[in-house]
Amino acid sequence: MPKMGNNLAQYLRTESMPSMWCPGCGHGNILRGILSAFQQIDLDLDHTVVVGGIGCSGRTPFYTDTHSMHTTHGRALAFGTGIKLANPELSVIAVMGDGDTAAIGGNHFIHACRRNIDMTAVIFNNNIYGMTGGQTAPTTPESMKSTTARDGNPDRPFDIVELAKAAGATFIARTTTFDFVDLPSLIARAIEHKGFSVVEVLTQCPTYFGRLNKIGDAVEMLDYERDLTVPMMQITREELLEKMPIGVFREEIKPSYTEQYKQSID
Ligand code: SF4
Repeated sequence: MPKMGNNLAQYLRTESMPSMWCPGCGHGNILRGILSAFQQIDLDLDHTVVVGGIGCSGRTPFYTDTHSMHTTHGRALAFGTGIKLANPELSVIAVMGDGDTAAIGGNHFIHACRRNIDMTAVIFNNNIYGMTGGQTAPTTPESMKSTTARDGNPDRPFDIVELAKAAGATFIARTTTFDFVDLPSLIARAIEHKGFSVVEVLTQCPTYFGRLNKIGDAVEMLDYERDLTVPMMQITREELLEKMPIGVFREEIKPSYTEQYKQSID
């Protein structure tokens, strides 16, 4: 159905409200960003599929008034690939956690980047496994605490943007839930990109990451995100050691896998 006016609730599956997310969780901010992006580009929701994996982020498809799939852990991109190749006219948006993306689904992620499949991955990076109890994720920063690293994580984390760059994604961006004003336009730009687009959103998990690392409540975690990040055009070499650049890192036009696949069939 066409949507009218500015009310974001019309993009929401209101019968699924309230959400299962904890009070103050950043996932609600990202959901709002996704719905605002739909509105900005007047996306046809009858031809849009939101696919999620397992975990707190995996609940997002329950809340968008689109076609939705709740799949297995780390496999949102595998299901999304099948949907896109079977129905290339659909817009496919995979919503994934950082564990979904870089651990369990790591292989799917790098190959989706490599193939340049025309779909969008919105990655909810809260630096920890939330739903399963606050365990260390591949994105947990070194020395930060989790329920499985009480004295601090000894591992080096994955940088999802660098991973996507190396694997060949053609649109790559990072932002935070603190930057909620810019979040919708970034997601909208990614959805409109022809090829595989990645938007990593640093988001707050006050229940585990914030509490275990004594960062504070949701508002203090937003301040933490603000202080941790610097726009990529302004970041200095020294700051790169401690801070994370945000912005659009790559936007390239290359033939998408979907187009190439259709050509080979033709
Ligand atoms: Fe959000 Fe963390 Fe709660 Fe999951 S456990 S809903 S990520 S605050």
